[in-house]
Amino acid sequence: MTPERYAKILKVLSRRQPTLTVLMDEVNKPHNFSAILRTCDAVGVLTAHAVPPKLGQGRGQLPTFGATSASADKWVSVQTHDDAVSAVRALQAQGVQVLATHLSQRSVDYREPDYTRPTCVLLGAEKFGVSDEAADAADQNIIIPMYGMVQSLNVSVAAATILFEAQRQRLAAGLYDQPQLDPERLRQLAFEWAYP
Ligand code: SAM
Repeated sequence: MTPERYAKILKVLSRRQPTLTVLMDEVNKPHNFSAILRTCDAVGVLTAHAVPPKLGQGRGQLPTFGATSASADKWVSVQTHDDAVSAVRALQAQGVQVLATHLSQRSVDYREPDYTRPTCVLLGAEKFGVSDEAADAADQNIIIPMYGMVQSLNVSVAAATILFEAQRQRLAAGLYDQPQLDPERLRQLAFEWAYP
């Protein structure tokens, strides 16, 4: 471990946003899963959440990490949950607002919510999207307006669009200027990242 590498680790950890996360509900394609983690790393998500796919090949397991993540899985931990509704409730019990990417009567433009609050973006499976139950349990439903012929974006593109809006708001609020991790946790993670 060179001093430069250790300094880089400290710099990255000093910008991590422990109050920003995603919940991937049965996202089953490895390239999408990995691309979302790569965006999480870029905006400073510390821990992502995921419900492993229940159907198809590899059911019950997180999609395998591929080249797309460029090893982002090393820097963003993933906490698994049995189902989306219980995960939403568990996050809300910790004071996190859950924003479900879902078209409904109460959907708002994804730029409206305040992402400087503790926030989780709920992302749906490629085929089925977010379930009505999980969307109902969420604090808000958000949507990226679409004006084309196609009805939805790729899930990793939607994740990036929303997470970079969160980054924009958090930058403006100065949340990347001061470490959001407490000093002891930051030191512990730096050691773990430096000597895996
Ligand atoms: N057939 C699915 C449906 O009806 O919801 C389409 C799912 S879409 C391919 C996969 C995921 O990408 C969605 O569950 C959502 O998380 C995200 N997504 C795609 N387009 C979006 C948009 N315009 N606004 C917000 N999220 C979007």
